[in-house]
Amino acid sequence: MDKIQLVGLKEQYRSIKADIDSAVLGVLGKGNFILGENVKSLEQEMAKYCGVKFGIGVASGTDALDLSLMALGIKEGDEVITTPFTFIATSEAISQAGARPVFVDIDLESFNIDVTLIRSKITKNTKAIIPVHIYGQPCNMDEIQKIAKEFNLTIIEDCAQAIGAEFKGKRVGSFGKAGCFSFFPSKNLGAFGDGGMIVTDDEELTKKLKMLRVHGSKDKYYHIMEGRNSRLDEMQAAIVRVKLNHIDKWNQLRIKWASAFNNNLADLQKADFVILPKEVSGVKHVYHIYGLRAKDRDGLKAYLEENGVQTGVHYPIPLHLQEVYRDLGYKKSDFPNAESLAKDIISLPLYPELTQEQVDYISKCIKDFYHK
Ligand SMILES: *Cc1c(COP(=O)(O)O)cnc(C)c1O
Repeated sequence: MDKIQLVGLKEQYRSIKADIDSAVLGVLGKGNFILGENVKSLEQEMAKYCGVKFGIGVASGTDALDLSLMALGIKEGDEVITTPFTFIATSEAISQAGARPVFVDIDLESFNIDVTLIRSKITKNTKAIIPVHIYGQPCNMDEIQKIAKEFNLTIIEDCAQAIGAEFKGKRVGSFGKAGCFSFFPSKNLGAFGDGGMIVTDDEELTKKLKMLRVHGSKDKYYHIMEGRNSRLDEMQAAIVRVKLNHIDKWNQLRIKWASAFNNNLADLQKADFVILPKEVSGVKHVYHIYGLRAKDRDGLKAYLEENGVQTGVHYPIPLHLQEVYRDLGYKKSDFPNAESLAKDIISLPLYPELTQEQVDYISKCIKDFYHK
């Protein structure tokens, strides 16, 4: 069997090659490469998909977060609450706005921010909260909205891993002031390069974000503020538009393969070798990542690699223990759940184009490792 990659980018391209090729060629022929018709259409389509009014295409998921905080006026002296179990882009956006990231531990059911611990971290400087729908499983948005209302906090959702995921039947991106998406190639809805999108119901915020992404200009060369160069290009927008038509089917296949892994590995869980990912009630989890908790994680990882299965670790060091954040004053055992997950979590290959044969082969390798 060929090596099984963590993400099946080539397989996905093959499955929709004709449509992607014609979308790209269409852009090449028009000669309009930045913020054109495809970006405009994708903004509307993404907004509609998420159940909100507006979309703003930007250069990456990181910029979607950065520009949102900037536009919402997060600044020096402010505190923003988030999870330590995420990619650094989430906390970077907070620091780079001049504010302080305040971490709250996760719960071990959902791997998302533990909503029962948030209140104790709120101070008079707390301005916002960034829930991250990690691995594609939505946070408890009922509780987060309740807390935000009580303390007058702005919610900015980090939806980079969760397009199409739902909390109580409502899609992520529609719960906060702004929902931030990434089109990084390996995400569930990936471009062929970098790209990102903010969705929102707020028209004023939309206008501001559309200025910020082009150096704060209202009309070309008329600047009323400073901004960035953070535009989504036409080629990426054209590609993402083709893929958006397939996202529900693809997410459904991710759910199918996750459930196949759960079935295949149930006995290993009974024998205490692994802990299968859980879905909390009331959510639709879209399995951007299938995160298995595994005894001797590093041994298993090496064994799978030897047997032609690429895996990942998302993430080996929680943010509060990253070297870059020494000055924030966090220490080991501040967030025991995030720390224990970082030690034993492993991401198995999971993408729509997997086959039953591959899922069974990966599962067999894992069983062989524990029974050898
Ligand atoms: C990927 C990711 C981002 C950043 O998106 P980019 O498009 O790579 O800049 C932010 N937050 C989370 C949780 C992510 O997984």
